[in-house]
Amino acid sequence: MSYKWLETASFTYPDNLAVKYKDESLTYQMLYMHAHSLGTHLQALKLKRVGLYIDNSLDSVKLIHGLMMLGVEMVMLNTRLTPGELKNQLEDVSVTTVIATLPAEIPGVEVIQYDDLFQLETQTFIVNNPQPDDILSIMFTSGTTGRAKAVPQTYKNHEASHLNCRQHFNYDSDSTWLMVNPIFHISGLSILFRTVMTGCTLIVENKFDEARVWNILSRDKVTHTSMVPVMLKRLMKIEGTHHLEGLLLGGASTTPSLLEKAMNKNLPVYNSFGMTETCSQIVQISYKDEKILSGTVGNIQDYDIKVDENTGELLIKGDSVANGYLNADMKKEDGYFNTGDLAEIDSEGYLYILDRRTDLIISGGENIYPKEIEDAVYSLSGVDRCVVIKKDDEEWGSVPVLLLEEEVDEALLLNHLSKHLAKYKLPKEIHYVDKIIMTSTGKISRSQNQKMFLGR
Ligand code: ATP
Ligand code: MG
Repeated sequence: MSYKWLETASFTYPDNLAVKYKDESLTYQMLYMHAHSLGTHLQALKLKRVGLYIDNSLDSVKLIHGLMMLGVEMVMLNTRLTPGELKNQLEDVSVTTVIATLPAEIPGVEVIQYDDLFQLETQTFIVNNPQPDDILSIMFTSGTTGRAKAVPQTYKNHEASHLNCRQHFNYDSDSTWLMVNPIFHISGLSILFRTVMTGCTLIVENKFDEARVWNILSRDKVTHTSMVPVMLKRLMKIEGTHHLEGLLLGGASTTPSLLEKAMNKNLPVYNSFGMTETCSQIVQISYKDEKILSGTVGNIQDYDIKVDENTGELLIKGDSVANGYLNADMKKEDGYFNTGDLAEIDSEGYLYILDRRTDLIISGGENIYPKEIEDAVYSLSGVDRCVVIKKDDEEWGSVPVLLLEEEVDEALLLNHLSKHLAKYKLPKEIHYVDKIIMTSTGKISRSQNQKMFLGR
């Protein structure tokens, strides 16, 4: 199969709507022409690899396709990072040129604004014919457990991720995907590739506003979308109508109560598990599956997934899994990628993510998963944000400590928790902080909060 996805779509579905952003839209034929014409300017830069500092917009979609035509590797930069952080990431992957659709200044880096590309002298080129192992995108992990790792994602990785996704979501050339997750995350970018591989419509939305999203879902008859749990929570604050066949949740853990609320509102939710290294979700569970409220992230039947018997770590193999990192060593076991997540698989093949190996608290010889405590706090107290960190303890080795942003009735909370958690799992201390620290991708980093609170 050819990896010239846009060319194939523009031959097969020339008049299908390829992309829509605000009031502008392009068919596949038009998108091909735009990308090609942009390519004639981009050619002057003679790029092998480039940084992209871009937002969810039509220009960004054209740019990505233009760069793909030239076979340029794209480093997807998180626009929430500071100039210093961006500089470090670019150094990690040896990139000195960045193309931006947003104002950007990064020390030591040449930043070219998208609009200025059209002033570059045009040059003819032959459309690149990508090979399976060519790098298409380079994306950094969220940096939740430490320094962000640079993941090279190949054409084959992205294709495998799409094929896996389509098996579960049954989208086709008549479908419409909404991309509201940032384009620089794998959950956003993978939607762009899925749609072009299918010849269906991509709706691009720049920021999450629940009223606008409801409006798009209904007006554009969106059939598929992907969100992080916080977005879904906000979406459900107001009422709306939709044509959704699949609403994928991922990136971080979701509570059963959120899934249940969404299902009660008739939303076809899918919980999922995935990583930057696996090029988006690798397992998912449908609202139609009766196990969806059990906390599982899906059945592993179609995948080569197992749990290391000794360490409890989740091991994954497959075409969507990246080969290694560009700035670190990737932990592998017998050809399986070691995710660093602790997991369990039940007798029917359902996968449960317990926690990250690095966050495990061993207290008096017992394993405590901070996530289990946090999940209980969320379900019992209604607080929006909490984090459980590890504190050294002379007697027990280490103990869990709960950090909260809002005051709660502690006696009541502990009383509730004690009904759901074994005594050794109860937080030994509860503290209030001004703000629980989040990573640039909106995740709660236990290690950063621990460092802030305990100084290490
Ligand atoms: P870093 O690797 O830099 O520490 P990160 O692991 O948070 O950051 P991502 O690739 O964005 O970077 O996230 C993947 C991780 O997110 C998974 O390894 C897992 O820990 C967590 N995760 C994703 N989906 C779920 C889920 N449904 N339930 C629990 N955890 C999840
Ligand atoms: Mg990770």
